[in-house]
Amino acid sequence: MTTPLVEMDGDEMTRVLWGLIKDELLTPYIDLNTEYYDLGLEHRNETNDQVTVDSAEATKKYGVAVKCATITPNAARMTEYNLKEMYKSPNGTIRAILDGTVFRAPIIVNGIEPYIKTWKKPITIARHAYGDVYKGVEMKIPGKGKAELVFTDENGNESRETIHDFDGPGIIQGMHNKCDSIESFARSCFAFALETKQDLWFSTKDTISKKYDHTFKDIFQDIYDKEYADKFKAAGIEYFYTLIDDAVARVVRSEGGFIWACKNYDGDVMSDMLATAFGSLSMMTSVLVSPHGYYEYEAAHGTVQRHYYKHLKGEETSTNPIATIFAWTGALRKRGELDNIPELMDFADKLEQACIKTIEDGRMTKDLALITTLKDPVTCNTQDFIKEVRKTLDSLL
Ligand code: NAP
Ligand code: MG
Repeated sequence: MTTPLVEMDGDEMTRVLWGLIKDELLTPYIDLNTEYYDLGLEHRNETNDQVTVDSAEATKKYGVAVKCATITPNAARMTEYNLKEMYKSPNGTIRAILDGTVFRAPIIVNGIEPYIKTWKKPITIARHAYGDVYKGVEMKIPGKGKAELVFTDENGNESRETIHDFDGPGIIQGMHNKCDSIESFARSCFAFALETKQDLWFSTKDTISKKYDHTFKDIFQDIYDKEYADKFKAAGIEYFYTLIDDAVARVVRSEGGFIWACKNYDGDVMSDMLATAFGSLSMMTSVLVSPHGYYEYEAAHGTVQRHYYKHLKGEETSTNPIATIFAWTGALRKRGELDNIPELMDFADKLEQACIKTIEDGRMTKDLALITTLKDPVTCNTQDFIKEVRKTLDSLL
């Protein structure tokens, strides 16, 4: 490896997996070159979260990062880790610095069948990660009165719209988005579609939301026409916009194999639906793609706290490392591609094949053993499963 990967270590059970994956599946095979950042909560606390910012800045410098799942502190974590502050979600901090879009895709394995029979290929969801209800401002209306939207420009000029003339109690909500954020979202989606050679679908509710959602639609179309239409044609892929209702119906009837770009709320809800319908959250990969060409790979699941507490008590666990392994292979392959190291890309492919083959040969962690259609699966504990993957990898190399 000529350029280091930015390595972001994390918390709890996924931190345990992180060490096992490096020791068993990476360092015996490749000269792993990383710049290490410890995003474990203790170290974030020691550095007042500076380490998270530093790791994102390093990603801007080198271009590719691999991240372990991390705890987002809440009240319980404040006491558990004796925190100085309730730090923000590391993913949020990193996303704010890299300005990207998160793409999530399931790992498809024979024997873990999607609930929807027509799905043959993964469906990748791209969720806009800024604004809308997530930055909403809300008010409870106590009774009779008029609610208005007011915008005051720099010179003090006001424009107004009546939201509603209330004749009794009710509720209101104000939300916003920014054109530059929607533009980066669009560019990340078009770039990722080109890179992975998949069609891109985009859906909103523009028939009802004639200014808000319609602006999303217009920005996407404008950027597509000006910057990407020719490239899409050359790559033999398609961009199309449709109403979200229609998109949902089409997704269910589809064979998969495309990217579905969604507004923030739609992406939140639809990604859980897709993960479950494809089989399991522990088989979802996630990559943050910035419009400037930076990539950060991770698993879609969290730190698997419940398993970690068992692990701490010395009890056996059966935690699925597949999504975390695929975060590494995604990052290694990307590094290989950028630095022109075919051996590294080949190793990433082989390690992924080893994961899939191990499961298809009937050895898997408990989460998969519970849902597999394979007969008599062997349920492995965390350590043994990784050793099984290593054996398969040896047979492939
Ligand atoms: P979680 O870690 O995703 O786990 C929820 C449950 O899903 C687990 O208890 C387990 O079910 C199952 N599961 C998830 N991943 C699995 C795997 N690899 N193998 C087997 N089973 C798996 O969510 P959480 O427990 O709600 O959150 C724990 C911490 O993760 C929180 O502090 C949260 O802030 C953080 N988090 C981080 C990220 C991130 O860094 N990207 C994302 C989400 C959450 P069973 O218990 O039934 O076996
Ligand atoms: Mg959700």
